[in-house]
Amino acid sequence: MGDRRPLRIGIIGAGLVGATAAIALSRLENVVVKAFERSPGPREEGAWISFNVSGLSILDRLIDLDQIQQILYRGDSNGAYVSRHWRTGEILALAHSSRHVAEKFTQARTHRVPVLNVLLSNVPAGTIQYGRSVLGTEVTEDGVRVNFKDSEPETFDLVVAADGIYSKIRQQYLSAKVEFRGAVAYRKIFPESQVSHIRGLPNDTSVWRGNGGFMFLSRLGLGMYGVVAIVPESPEFAATLKWARSVGSEGLQRLRQRFSNWDPIIDQVLQTMTDIDAYPLDSGPWMKELVRDDRIAFVGDAAHPTAGAYGAGSAMGYADCWALFRSLEQSYKRPKPNAPSIVESPVPPHLYDLPRALRLYNETRRHFLGRVELQMALDRNESAYLAEAEDEEEWIRRFKERHSNQIWLTEHDVEAEFQKTLAGEAHWLSQVEAAKGVKAHL
Ligand SMILES: Cc1cc2nc3c(=O)[nH]c(=O)nc-3n(C[C@H](O)[C@H](O)[C@H](O)COP(=O)(O)OP(=O)(O)OC[C@H]3O[C@@H](n4cnc5c(N)ncnc54)[C@H](O)[C@@H]3O)c2cc1C
Repeated sequence: MGDRRPLRIGIIGAGLVGATAAIALSRLENVVVKAFERSPGPREEGAWISFNVSGLSILDRLIDLDQIQQILYRGDSNGAYVSRHWRTGEILALAHSSRHVAEKFTQARTHRVPVLNVLLSNVPAGTIQYGRSVLGTEVTEDGVRVNFKDSEPETFDLVVAADGIYSKIRQQYLSAKVEFRGAVAYRKIFPESQVSHIRGLPNDTSVWRGNGGFMFLSRLGLGMYGVVAIVPESPEFAATLKWARSVGSEGLQRLRQRFSNWDPIIDQVLQTMTDIDAYPLDSGPWMKELVRDDRIAFVGDAAHPTAGAYGAGSAMGYADCWALFRSLEQSYKRPKPNAPSIVESPVPPHLYDLPRALRLYNETRRHFLGRVELQMALDRNESAYLAEAEDEEEWIRRFKERHSNQIWLTEHDVEAEFQKTLAGEAHWLSQVEAAKGVKAHL
C-alpha cells in the first residue's frame, strides 16, 4: 500500500462551483487538488444571486455558514419571493420556504462578488492557479492530460470540469450548441440609499410578472439594492448585446419604456438609475450523463448549461460538488494497519475506486437534474397560457393556478439522494450475488 500516491484531481474553472469543488474535494484523504482559472484573478462581476434552502444546507456542510449569513438579505417576507400583479402591485402569491426548514437555511438574497469571496477564502491556499486557460483534455493510459494555452500540460487521475455554460470540455463530448433562448436579463446592483426616498417601496423581495416579462426588486444586504428585469428580445437585438456590459442610458430608457404601464413603483426605481447591464440568456441541452471515461466529472453550468434556472443554478452546482465529494469519499479504500498485503496486478496507483465513485456521482445527480430540465420545458408553455387569458380576472386565476413553490427543487436534499443511491447500489450488488448463487445451483 505504501507505494500508492495521492489521487491527482484537476478542477477546470474557479467560479462559484469550481471554488466549491476545490473546498469539498480538498477534504478528501490522500488527494492533491489543483484548480485552473483562466481569468487573471477572482472575477469581480455579477449581480444579485438568490440562495435557496438546498444551496445553504450544502454550504453549511462545507464552510462556516455564518460567513454567508452575514451577507444575506431576507427582509419582511423572511426570504419568500412575493409575487405581485404587474400593474397594480397587489400580492398574488408568496413562495415561502417550508415550515420545518431551520431559520438559517430559509431562502435569501445577496450579491455574487461577496459570495465568491467567501468561498475563495475557504479554498486551501495555493490550490487555485489564475491565468491558466485550458485548451482541452486527452485521456491517456496514465490519466487525463490537461492542455493549457500558455504552459506545459499536466496529468490528473480525475478532472472536474467546472468551466461554465460554454464549457470547452463538454464540447469535446457533445456537439449540441448553447443558444439564445429568447430573453435578456437586465441587472444592476447599487447602494440602497439611492432608492431610500421612494415611498411604499416593498421591504421584501418582490417579483412583478406580466405578459411582457418579469421585474425583480430587492434589497440585497450589505447596504445594496438590486434590480433584475427579464424581458423577451429578438435574437437580432440580443446579438448586439455583450454579456454583463452596460446598455447605457439609451438602453435604460428603452427598458423604462417596456415597463411604463406597469406598477409605477418600478419606474420610480428605474428613474434613479443611470445605466443597467445586459445578460442575453443562453441555454443548451443538459448532460444526461455527468461523467466520461471513468475520469472526468462535470459540475455546475458545465453540466447543466442554462443561464438563469429558477435562481437555482449555483445551488445545483454546490449539490454536484457535494455528491462528487461523497462519492469519492465512499470509494476510498482506506489502508488497514497490519492487514496482509494483497498484491493486485497491476498495482493501482492510488486508493480510490474511480469508476465506482463516478457511477455513484452520476446516479445521485442525473435523476434530479433531468427532472429540473423537464420542468423548464413544461414552464415554457406557461407564458402563452397566461397571455391567452381573455380578461384580467382570468389572467389572475391562471396565474394563481400555475404558481407553485417548487419545493422539490429549491429544497432538494442531495445528501438524502446520495444515501438513496448507496442503498440502491447495495441492493443491486445483492441481486447480482443472488443471481450468481442461483446459477451455481443450476
Ligand atoms: C441572469 C442570471 C441570474 C442568475 N441568478 C441566479 C440566482 O439567483 N441563484 C443561483 O443560484 N444561480 C443563479 N444564476 C446561475 C448561476 O450564476 C450559475 O449557475 C453559476 O454561476 C454557475 O457557476 P459555475 O462555476 O458553474 O460557472 P461560472 O460561474 O461560469 O464559472 C466558470 C469559470 O470557469 C472559468 N473558465 C471557463 N473556461 C475556462 C477554461 N478553458 N480554462 C480555465 N478556466 C475557464 C471561467 O473564467 C469561470 O470563472 C443566474 C444566472 C444568470 C445568467
